[in-house]
Amino acid sequence: MTARFEFELKATDGKARTGVISTPRGEIRTPAFMPVGTAATVKAMMPESVRATGADILLGNTYHLMLRPTAERIDRLGGLHKFMNWERPILTDSGGFQVMSLAGLRKLTEEGVTFKSHIDGSKHELTPERSMEIQRLLGSDIVMCFDECPALPADRDRIAESMRLSMRWAERSKAAFGDRPGHALFGIMQGGLEQDFREESAKALREIGFDGYAIGGLAVGEGQEAMFDCLDYAPDMLPVDKPRYLMGVGKPDDIVGAVKRGVDMMDCVLPSRSGRTGQAFTRRGVVNIKNARHADDPRPLDENCSCPACSNYSRAYLRHVFRSNEMISGMLLTWHNLQYFQDIMGEMRVAIAAGRFDAWEEEFHAMRAMGDIDPL
Ligand SMILES: [Zn+2]
Repeated sequence: MTARFEFELKATDGKARTGVISTPRGEIRTPAFMPVGTAATVKAMMPESVRATGADILLGNTYHLMLRPTAERIDRLGGLHKFMNWERPILTDSGGFQVMSLAGLRKLTEEGVTFKSHIDGSKHELTPERSMEIQRLLGSDIVMCFDECPALPADRDRIAESMRLSMRWAERSKAAFGDRPGHALFGIMQGGLEQDFREESAKALREIGFDGYAIGGLAVGEGQEAMFDCLDYAPDMLPVDKPRYLMGVGKPDDIVGAVKRGVDMMDCVLPSRSGRTGQAFTRRGVVNIKNARHADDPRPLDENCSCPACSNYSRAYLRHVFRSNEMISGMLLTWHNLQYFQDIMGEMRVAIAAGRFDAWEEEFHAMRAMGDIDPL
């Protein structure tokens, strides 16, 4: 255990990388997938169950927590780790993205954003300084710079203006974050799908200097091909010796494609959200547990998965509890999905270390292309 935040790159295979981030709260093996604990909980999961899937770090949402129960209340109660009973590392986003996607009546100025809460309409302000304060009150281990992200498609002028504002905010975020040993501040690269703006943004961030670098402004509706095109060059613009985090990604094949292109960390609500709507991610692709074909099927969802849903229950049971709106349905499918996401991260770490990522990737796609096991 270290008292500092450090990243050690252990091996590379092509552009894919594997390493370890050390923090006072434990190690994060990369490439890492971070389950999302929006409201101080990964929905339908106990924290020890999230850990049992292999997760080293969770993501918390500043926007949600500042509105309810508030960062000040969480601080009084001992910080977010204690509040939600997760002692390992937590990364918090800056609130910027969710203000844009969830809040009503936003007003954007050089200073920051004022907005109305989507919960009760109350008025709030987020600035780089306030975002740093909230993330400090939460006790976040990895703090994200406050940024602005325009919805795509947007014209080049709008993307440039927004990116440059985010770079000024990155500088203010760094100043407000101060010197906090053991805690990390990540800068966020913006610039949409414009390579020259991505380069300008990366340069600005490198000059300020951060503990890690995120690639923002992707996975916002541009599609996988456009995202991969950007990831073909964007990670290369960031320092080799710092972790690279692709925000809000993604589906299993998005994740694999991002790792292949040099990304170290990712987060997404997909495994937990899909788990609550009867959708399971497996080695053989997506399985909709509500389908009638599972009604009499005594086989597990995925015979190669070690999670409780696959070890102890049949497809028939999983379909039954989903159709009956039983809580265990969301619990089991969320566990399975989080397990699957962590399993592919673990397999990729091993494959990269062994220098056989390409072979692993080929197998990954071949299994998915086969589709679900044949009905009985
Ligand atoms: Zn499973």
